[in-house]
Amino acid sequence: METPPPSITVPFQLSLTEGRIAGQATVPSGLVTITQMLPSLQQLASNLINATVEAAAAQGIEISCRKGCGACCSQLVVISLFEAEFLANWIRSLPEIQQSLLRDRFHHALLSLKERGMLELLDPDTWGDSEEERQNLSMTYLSKKVPCPFLVEQSCGIYPIRPLICREYLVTTDPANCVAPLPGKVTVLPIPLRLSRPMYEIGARLEGSNRGWIPLVFLLAWMRGNMTPGDHVTGTGPELLHQVLSQLERADRDENAAD
Ligand code: SF4
Repeated sequence: METPPPSITVPFQLSLTEGRIAGQATVPSGLVTITQMLPSLQQLASNLINATVEAAAAQGIEISCRKGCGACCSQLVVISLFEAEFLANWIRSLPEIQQSLLRDRFHHALLSLKERGMLELLDPDTWGDSEEERQNLSMTYLSKKVPCPFLVEQSCGIYPIRPLICREYLVTTDPANCVAPLPGKVTVLPIPLRLSRPMYEIGARLEGSNRGWIPLVFLLAWMRGNMTPGDHVTGTGPELLHQVLSQLERADRDENAAD
């Protein structure tokens, strides 16, 4: 069994428009790539989200998402380049029979999207940048009812390593409304600290674009390029944590300046 790299627990303070937030994260102590940091960032994301869920529960707001309800897993899920690399490495580590099964599932999903006229709409070069255009694209994608290739018997087949964006999507309304969502019928718990966002932005800087992500359904096609974006964003665990959290603060400032 591989020995985990030495780790260190780092306290941090975030200055957000809503106030200061203190926390801590356990990260690798030595030099790593940002992709190798993902297990620590996933854990931090889950801790931050759990704190938000507990605060909501104290106000009588309950999360309705349950194991075995995969209704939201037919959405357009976008993952940062680093999460793409992380999942690609995980897939390559699987026995060939499981890799082949996943290849079939991704192929089937892409074929279904093609048959339903969605594939050409997913060409990133033709996507608009406005929030309204993104929402429309997401609603169109959802209407095609093509489940995520990782969804197995209505549960996430990669739950412990699922993307950050999936962790951040928590519904508070009746799960029945998620099956065929109508405007205003599905309410999502606002997550003030979304780590998916700085990861997209760090990826966008690297790419020199305004995205830094790929649709999850393109993961196996992306893998064929053998790209290793994490190799271009390296540092010690505490340095990379600082980079991600600084980006999070910047995103928070920009979002609130735009309101
Ligand atoms: S990765 Fe898991 S949680 Fe995310 S959409 Fe796919 S099945 Fe659902």
